[in-house]
Amino acid sequence: MSPVPRVLTVLSAMLAAGCATVVPIEPVSTTEPTSPPAPLTIGPAAIDTYGGWIPDGQTLSPFDMSNPAIANLDPALLTAVQNAARAAADQGIDVRINSGWRSTGFQQRLFDDAVRTYGSADIARQFVASPEVSKHVVGQAVDIAPVDADKWLIRNGIPFGLCQIYANEIWHFELAVDSQGNCPPLRPNAAG
Ligand SMILES: [Zn+2]
Repeated sequence: MSPVPRVLTVLSAMLAAGCATVVPIEPVSTTEPTSPPAPLTIGPAAIDTYGGWIPDGQTLSPFDMSNPAIANLDPALLTAVQNAARAAADQGIDVRINSGWRSTGFQQRLFDDAVRTYGSADIARQFVASPEVSKHVVGQAVDIAPVDADKWLIRNGIPFGLCQIYANEIWHFELAVDSQGNCPPLRPNAAG
């Protein structure tokens, strides 16, 4: 008989008895190899792989402070986006956020997924910033939806301090207007 069920039985008994601390129990001997623990998929940065995650297709109001993706934004950026959203609404444009603040672990997961998708870190960097450089991780970037709102903000963002940053990301905005009232030249992508 495999020792594994016996170990589980002991653990269950401990839990049922209300033990606050469960001490891992090594099987004394086994004739069957136990399966190794599942490997970490995103490396040591994986403290929080979901912080700031918003399900695909879901968008948030820039006034929804109940979600950490919004609440953890840099206050100056959040205020700018809210002011822009009010102005856009007056013109019939609904400004939504589909990504804002992201935890380091979540950004690492996105980057690692992109490395798998594109086959190399160098190509992945054109589409997803690493946690070390992502402005989302420090709450200084928002991704805006839908496309109508992106286009409105590209045309009208400067009075609010908001700029498109990457030519290949019409949805990604940061507070980047300089003292002359200009946005910086578009960078081709997140790697450029
Ligand atoms: Zn972005």
